[in-house]
Amino acid sequence: MATATATATATVADAGAIYETFGGCVIGSPGGIDMHRVILHSDMNAFYASVEQAERPELRGVPLVVGGHEETRHGIVLAKSAQAKAAGVKTGEALWEARAKCPGLVVVPPRYDVYQRYSALARRIYYQYTDLVEPFGLDECWIDLTGALALSTRAPLDVAREISQRMKDELGCTVSVGVSWNKVFAKFGSDLRKPDAVTAITPENYQQLVWKAPVGELLYVGRATRAKLHSSGVDTVGDLACASPELLRRRLGKVGLVLRAFARGEDATPVKPFDPTRNEVDRTVKSFGNGLTCPHDIVCAADAKALIYLLAESVAQRLREARFRASTVSIGVRDAHDLTSYGRQTTLPRATNTTGQIARMAWELLSANEPLDEEHPLRGLHVRASNLEPMDAPQQLDLGFDARRRVLEDLDETIDDLRRRFGNTCIQRGVELMDESLLDLDVKRDNVVHPVGYF
Ligand SMILES: [Mg+2]
Repeated sequence: MATATATATATVADAGAIYETFGGCVIGSPGGIDMHRVILHSDMNAFYASVEQAERPELRGVPLVVGGHEETRHGIVLAKSAQAKAAGVKTGEALWEARAKCPGLVVVPPRYDVYQRYSALARRIYYQYTDLVEPFGLDECWIDLTGALALSTRAPLDVAREISQRMKDELGCTVSVGVSWNKVFAKFGSDLRKPDAVTAITPENYQQLVWKAPVGELLYVGRATRAKLHSSGVDTVGDLACASPELLRRRLGKVGLVLRAFARGEDATPVKPFDPTRNEVDRTVKSFGNGLTCPHDIVCAADAKALIYLLAESVAQRLREARFRASTVSIGVRDAHDLTSYGRQTTLPRATNTTGQIARMAWELLSANEPLDEEHPLRGLHVRASNLEPMDAPQQLDLGFDARRRVLEDLDETIDDLRRRFGNTCIQRGVELMDESLLDLDVKRDNVVHPVGYF
């Protein structure tokens, strides 16, 4: 297999070659696609709410939401049970709105440690079939059964149904499972029918099932991409699959070609096994980022600063674990009024991976751009570090700078070590303690970071 580096373009150099695009996605040319792979995408339905109902029998069958702290008037719905969904309750709406729609609604606060435990229990079931299990967020995984089934007479759908049944019996949670020869279609299958369903996307039915769907339902086609495609007359996945490569390249750049290949079932990206030492982030990533939709609107500088430090800390910790430094720090800001977002970034003369430096840069960006008061509430924040270089890359010597950095790096190393031994919440910076609702939130662990920045 000929693979290129992360800087490869999506140009098809020679027919039959399989090449890697940026971000670790692999596209095969039509002749080079292995349609015999068996890839499952398993998605736990209404995850937080299902876990609460599994843990507390008295909550089963009742309309339930997991939501922000009840005493704050800004609390929002983070997750809803099937019964609450039936009453029209939506994720992200205010708790008072949800209550108005659904009298008798039960609201429970999130318990991220419990969701983390269920996430691990689910993976433990998947691991009994293969070690090729790739988490995608807390409640979703891709599972590559190709090798496991090559030695067996079992049909892929039988195994998918067995996994689904075991999740119900052993965890008390339903899943929707998609089965296909590639990750993008497997994910599509698990989204197509839910809850508690197994859907196969096959070479025989994909044009019927996938191509008829709106293009936005394809993984990685976000709102901005969808709008650009729409203005070019591309509205369904089938339109995208059959669009001219020149048109897509002109409208979207190389991403357009990658998405077209995905629509055609030419995604050859491998399922990357979970590796805790890599912290679920592939080494070909171009950036590390972490963001959070807040449990309540942020209307003061102290809360915003606490969140920025929390996010920056997890980003810096990941950089250090993957042995990178970054010289660009960016923030993403989501407005609570109209839910629009924007980004700002800044570049340092020298790459860094210390929490203090990354947090300070992110905080300076935010405080320079936002008044942070009651009139300008924020709903979400994101911190990202990019322009990566390996930690062992040579840096120009500067004695004063290096001595200062040595102190900061030593401090971070000590904190990392404590956290490795006692858990991520064992030690927190003073600034984080300003917002009590963030105390039990463990950002690095609860928000699995997806490699970001390519689509
Ligand atoms: Mg889910």
